[in-house]
Amino acid sequence: MYRSHNCGELRAANINAEVTLSGWVQKSRDKGFIVWVDLRDRYGITQLVFDEERTSKDLIEQAQNLGREFVIQVKGTVIERASKNPNIPTGDIEILVSELTVLNESLLPPFTIEDKTDGGEDIRMKYRYLDIRRNPVKESLIFRHKVTQEVRNYLSKEGFIEVETPYLIKSTPEGARDFVVPSRMNEGQFYALPQSPQTFKQLLMVGGMDKYFQIVKCFRDEDLRADRQPEFTQIDCEMAFIEQEDILNAFEGLTRHLLKEVNGVEVEKFPRMLYDDAMRLYGNDKPDIRFGMEFGELNDVAQHKDFGVFNNAELVVGIAVPGGNSYTRKDIDKLISWVKRPQVGALGMVYSRCNDDGSFKSSVDKFYDQDDLAKWAEVTGAKPGDLVCVLSGDKNKVRAQLSALRMELAERLGLRDPKVFAPLWVMDFPLLELDEETGHYHAMHHPFTSPKPGQIELLDSNPGEVKANAYDLVLNGNEIGGGSIRIHDKKTQAIMLKHLGFSEEEAKAQFGFLMDAFEYGAPPHGGLAFGLDRLVAILGGQETIRDFIAFPKNNSGRDVMIDAPAPIDDEQLTELSLKLNLKS
Ligand code: ASP
Repeated sequence: MYRSHNCGELRAANINAEVTLSGWVQKSRDKGFIVWVDLRDRYGITQLVFDEERTSKDLIEQAQNLGREFVIQVKGTVIERASKNPNIPTGDIEILVSELTVLNESLLPPFTIEDKTDGGEDIRMKYRYLDIRRNPVKESLIFRHKVTQEVRNYLSKEGFIEVETPYLIKSTPEGARDFVVPSRMNEGQFYALPQSPQTFKQLLMVGGMDKYFQIVKCFRDEDLRADRQPEFTQIDCEMAFIEQEDILNAFEGLTRHLLKEVNGVEVEKFPRMLYDDAMRLYGNDKPDIRFGMEFGELNDVAQHKDFGVFNNAELVVGIAVPGGNSYTRKDIDKLISWVKRPQVGALGMVYSRCNDDGSFKSSVDKFYDQDDLAKWAEVTGAKPGDLVCVLSGDKNKVRAQLSALRMELAERLGLRDPKVFAPLWVMDFPLLELDEETGHYHAMHHPFTSPKPGQIELLDSNPGEVKANAYDLVLNGNEIGGGSIRIHDKKTQAIMLKHLGFSEEEAKAQFGFLMDAFEYGAPPHGGLAFGLDRLVAILGGQETIRDFIAFPKNNSGRDVMIDAPAPIDDEQLTELSLKLNLKS
C-alpha cells in the first residue's frame, strides 16, 4: 500500500495516527539536527519532520539527501505542530517520520514547482508535466473537469444523448482551412479532420436521435491569433422538432446551470439583442455589457458645420468615458496615439470635455459651439465630469475602432470585473457576409443555416440584407456559443449553396450525402456549439484558455513538449504515395 492518506487530508483529529504517505518533495529545510520536508500530491501539502532526537540519525541523513521533486513514501506518526500554518488545511499537524523510501529520484526541475514560479511560458510548455504539478494549472484542469461534468449532468437530465462522431471525415464548412490526413489504403486521397461535427449532428437528427450533444475536439488550420488553438473543444448540440425559442431556452438553461453550480452565481433571464443593434450600440457582435458606455451616433448633430472630417464620414460616433474629464491633456494625447496604433487604425480622435459647471471644452471648438457639444453629450449619455471621445469614418471600420477603445477604457477603469457575469443572446445575424477581397458572399455562420422566414427571395436582389435564424451566446465580451436553425429541405439547401457559389456538381460532390438525407424525412432541427475552452476560462475568471488545456500548442501551432509537427521518414512517405515539394 503506497499510502493510507493523501497529502491534503490529515488534520488535528488525526493526531497520534500511524500513517503512510506518498508524494513529491516540494522543498526541504535543513537545520542539521532537524529536517522539514513539504510533501506534495494533487490533494495538498503535508509537512514531514525528521528529528534526530525523536528518530534516527540515519533517517536524518536520508532526508538530507532528498532533492526537489523526488518521489518518496514515508511512514510515521501524526503529531501536533509547534508552529501552526493557518494558510494550508493540514497546517495544524506534521508527520514525525519513522521510515523513508525513495520511490524515484528526480533531476533538478528547470523551474520551481510552486504557485509563483520562476519559469517562463516557453520552458513551462516544454515541461508541461511539471507545470501541471503546480497549483494554478492543476486547479484549472480540475475546474475544467467540474464544468464538463456539470454539462454532462445537465444535458443528460434534459434528455440529450452523447454520441461520438468520426474524426476522419471530409471537409466541413466552418470557413477555416482543413487539417488533412493522407489515406494509405486509398492512394492519393485524404481525410479532413472535422472543423466541427456539423453535418454529422444534422444526420443524427435525420436519424431520429432528437437531442444530441458531444464534448468534442474540432480542428481548424487557421493563422493563430492570440489565444487560439488549432485543436479545441466544443460542447456540440443539436435538437429536432424545435424552433429558435426552444434552443435559446435549452442552452440558456445550461449556461445558467453552470453559472450556478460552478460559480454560485444566479443570473436573470438573458437579455436578447439584435445583431444590428449590437453593431450600432457597441460596434461589435459580442458586446461586453458588464458596463455601459454605449455608442451615440452623432451624424445628425455633427455634420451641419464646416468640419470636413466629420462631413465626409459615413459615420460619426462617440462614447462617454465616465470621469474622463479628469484626464490631463497628456493622458488624452496618449489615448489619441492609442487609437492611431495600426492594430486599431483610427486616423484621429475628437474629444469634448464635460465640465462640472455644465460647459464643454472640445478639440474642435473652432467648429462647434456649446449647444452642439451639449447635443453630443446628450446623445452619448455623457454627464458633467465625463469625456466624450468621437471617431469618424467608414461605418464598419469606425465601429470596430470605437469598440476597441471602449474595451480598452473599460479595462483601465476596472469595469471588466471577472467575477461579474453578463450573458446575452445576439440574434438575427446576416445570412451572408461579403468578402471584400473577392467580392463574393460567403455564409456568415455556415451553409446549412436557414434564412429568416420569407427572406429567401431577397437572396437575389439584396443578399447582404438577408437575416438568418442564427444566434450567438455572448458572455463578458466573448462569443461562447453560436448556432442556428438549419435548412432541412433539399430545395432550400440547393438555393443556398448556389448563392454561395457552388455549382450543382460541386454541391453534390461536397454535400451530396446531406442533401440526399434531406430527401428521407429530415425533421426541422437546429442547434449550437459552445467553445468549451473559452467558456471554462471565463467561468474560471481568466483571460487565457491555455491554462485550462492540459497540453496546449504554442502560438505557432507547435507542441514544444513532444516537438510536433515533425517530418516523417521516406518510408512513410512512400507508403502514403506522397512526395514533398517544400517551399523552403
Ligand atoms: N457548427 C457550428 C460551429 O462550429 C455550430 C452550430 O451551428 O451548431 O460554429
